[in-house]
Amino acid sequence: MRLTIWILGDQLLRQHPALEAAQILARPDEIRVVLVESASRIARRPVHRKKLVLLLSAMRHYADQLRNAGYVVDYIRAGSVVEGLRQHVLEWQPDRLLTMAAAEFRGRQFQQQGLAALGVEVECLPNTQMLAGRYDPFPEPNHRTLLETFYRAMRRQWGLLIDAEGQPIGGSWNYDAQNRKPLPRAGVVAPKLLSFAPDAITSAVMAEVAALSSGIGEAHDFDLAVTHDAAQAAFDDFIAHRLADFGPYEDAMSSESAFLFHSVLSPYMNIGLLDPLQMAQAVERAYYDGRAPLASVEGFIRQIVGWREYIYWQYWRQMPGLLTANYWQHQRPLPDFFWHGETEMRCLRCVIGRVLAHGYSHHIERLMVLCNFCLLAGIEPAQVNEWFLRCYVDAYEWVVAPNVIGMGLNADGGRTATKPYLASANYINKMSDYCAACRFDPKQRTGDEACPFNFLYWNFLIEHEAVLRSNPRLGPAVLGLKHLSAADREAVQRQAATFLAALPGAGGAY
Ligand code: FAD
Ligand code: SF4
Repeated sequence: MRLTIWILGDQLLRQHPALEAAQILARPDEIRVVLVESASRIARRPVHRKKLVLLLSAMRHYADQLRNAGYVVDYIRAGSVVEGLRQHVLEWQPDRLLTMAAAEFRGRQFQQQGLAALGVEVECLPNTQMLAGRYDPFPEPNHRTLLETFYRAMRRQWGLLIDAEGQPIGGSWNYDAQNRKPLPRAGVVAPKLLSFAPDAITSAVMAEVAALSSGIGEAHDFDLAVTHDAAQAAFDDFIAHRLADFGPYEDAMSSESAFLFHSVLSPYMNIGLLDPLQMAQAVERAYYDGRAPLASVEGFIRQIVGWREYIYWQYWRQMPGLLTANYWQHQRPLPDFFWHGETEMRCLRCVIGRVLAHGYSHHIERLMVLCNFCLLAGIEPAQVNEWFLRCYVDAYEWVVAPNVIGMGLNADGGRTATKPYLASANYINKMSDYCAACRFDPKQRTGDEACPFNFLYWNFLIEHEAVLRSNPRLGPAVLGLKHLSAADREAVQRQAATFLAALPGAGGAY
């Protein structure tokens, strides 16, 4: 019996189910592990160079780690995944191939249909990288489930911050209200992130990636973790230095710091270097040991076993239609400044600049600055989705599409989030220091100095008044329209139309 274990590049799990199954099914000399680097995949969508370095270096380190553990590893660099697997099958002639279900739709389709062409018996094990792959709290198709319901079911299932009676520790499921502070002007300084000097493998990958003709950002200052141990060190550093302040400043934005008290761990979780359940349990222990307050610990657990899993769950409920969803029928092209960051709007300039440099911005900047702008400006959802997929180090279709098309742009008609996340400059001004040094005035609705978020926001409310009025969560915002006179409405609409017509990439230069 000859057994092949095919490990996907974003499934570098310490405890991979196919490797565990192989131990039972075959002798060590009957097992080969195969990993494939696909040139066509790299060429198809030029992504952030730091993401590519992370992926390729982590794959190569993983292969070495398996060799050190006694496995024979076939690490193949091929034109495509199929080509790589064919080459492996020709050489090793396996009787059976074991793999784990891909996190993404196309990958899973290939596993279900494409692998058959190899002429080998294939077994695809359930995805254990996601908690929702191990346990589905609401398995019926088309079940409309809110994040909060989903989150509570996950907390109960995994016993996280749950007392002996099955109730939430501290008496509340949610400490959101304590987690919305802006950063004070002085006195709170975010600690530096742990960085990792590239070793020989990473340096070689950096050189290869730097030589590619296309891609976003630079490879030369790459300093991310590429192994389980290093990712664990980054996680331990977060618990020791940032977790306690994570909760209160979770929604704060700062021109000084991209990372603030965020964990910056999604790039590692999304390729299997960190396990979400082990992370949630470690953070819970930090609360019981008195190292972090409940509001921060609950807030972090909500992000990883609530939001992250809910997003993955939504993705599988809404695919493949999610990718083309366009509830608001928005068609405007993505403005050019998303690709270089040069705009007078300071919040967008800072956030886009840091995304292009680091492949990172935190959640509120993704949602309330970038997507908020794109929703108010009527940018086509598929173009926004593509930008996010290319520019972020942690971007994969399963997480980008529901977050961007669903939550950020409300283009799925409210299946992911019950209301569109839209806001005027008032929110950005309250939660950040961006507006203080901006050429626009966050307090003016119309006029030369008026912040575009303001007239675009009111324009959106006017245009979609009837639809928005029917959403109980948006009622108060729409009610604000009654304070606008007919002349105010007309001024808002005129300025929004002029701005949108002149957006670079939409036929002019603003
Ligand atoms: P923290 O603020 O420290 O949060 C902890 C962890 O919670 C994150 O690492 C992440 O694993 C998880 N998390 C929290 N919210 C979400 C969510 N809505 N979806 C998935 N995971 C969540 N996350 C990605 O991993 N990849 C993406 O490409 C991505 N694109 C996004 C696009 C938009 C428009 C929005 C609104 C959110 C997106 N997110 C994405 C979710 C979230 O913004 C990032 O996971 C988070 O900012 C990563 O930074 P962090 O590790 O410092 O997170
Ligand atoms: Fe952004 Fe408007 Fe504030 Fe300028 S004034 S930083 S454009 S929200």
